[in-house]
Amino acid sequence: MASKSLPETYKAVACTKPNTPWEIVDMPLRKPGPQEVLIRVHASGICYSDHLLKDGMWPGLQYPRIPGHEVIGRVADVGLTTQEAKGNEGRFKAGSLVAVGWNGGYCSRCDNCRKGEFWTCKNGNITGFTIDGGYGEYMYAPETAVIHLDEDMLKENTYAELAPLFCAGATVFDAIRTSKWSPGDRCLIQGIGGLGHLAVQYASKMGLVVYAVSSGSSKRDLALSLGASEYIDSSTTNVVEYMQSLGGANLIICTAPNANLISAILPAVAVNGMITLVSAATDGEIKVSNLLLNMSRATLRGFACGCSPDSENCVKFSTRSKVKAMVQEFPIEEFDKAYQGVIENTARFRNVIVFP
Ligand SMILES: [Zn+2]
Ligand SMILES: [Zn+2]
Repeated sequence: MASKSLPETYKAVACTKPNTPWEIVDMPLRKPGPQEVLIRVHASGICYSDHLLKDGMWPGLQYPRIPGHEVIGRVADVGLTTQEAKGNEGRFKAGSLVAVGWNGGYCSRCDNCRKGEFWTCKNGNITGFTIDGGYGEYMYAPETAVIHLDEDMLKENTYAELAPLFCAGATVFDAIRTSKWSPGDRCLIQGIGGLGHLAVQYASKMGLVVYAVSSGSSKRDLALSLGASEYIDSSTTNVVEYMQSLGGANLIICTAPNANLISAILPAVAVNGMITLVSAATDGEIKVSNLLLNMSRATLRGFACGCSPDSENCVKFSTRSKVKAMVQEFPIEEFDKAYQGVIENTARFRNVIVFP
């Protein structure tokens, strides 16, 4: 594959060390190595978890690091082994529409991979944490991290609208899909933000009766328009008492990263219900009553984003059932402003860096 037309350097946003401002840097563009794909990035969504890199809260990180794990773009070049590998024929053509999410690839050889649990590969990567991510004009991705997309997916979505599906979307889609519930069950979505506004749409499209919970009334109309049956303002309504008066929530999906808010809502669970935590609450410990779980035989579980094939399913479902991320686009020069919007929870609902 010819790479003659590629530039010698590319612009990217880097965190050079913890607790310092973001920097826009010029990176050298090299030939992709074995099993590596060079992607020309078109859009890259900002995730709340990026603060774990910026604030030095993820163990064992090496700096400088380019974050960004909601990346969509096109294949610009591939390493030789990727081009020649059996099974890869035609999948990595120059210009193909591809994406990269939270999972930065897996080895296929460790004990966890051999059991099919690729998302927890012992030699795996997290995009933008253990390898550089997509806040740049280009990014290098291991071939196992690459999500393959149909060109048709751009018919009713922009690059920026698709980008958030590769972490926020894929996480809540699979968290709901793999939880225990039946169509018609009551599903409580805690938090209407980057994850929550997608979770409301997925849960209602999958056949759950959705109760969207947030503080204040500003998100009421939006939550109802996204498919919620009811909106509950937690500043004026006792959510636990209200949900228990209906019989409890068969499924609770916690999306807002606040340990106290999550702890307060857990007793809304129904008998035999399930609570799935997808948020990254780093502000404290979640407290739950042992007896509550015993006496309702409820299940409390955590959930993390899956791998490239999982994201492919999520995008297929999203584009077919018209689940859409609500985004605001920013050029790379305004990265700081876009990031602050996510951290201060003023983003409506995903801020996405776009590259012309
Ligand atoms: Zn994320
Ligand atoms: Zn592995």
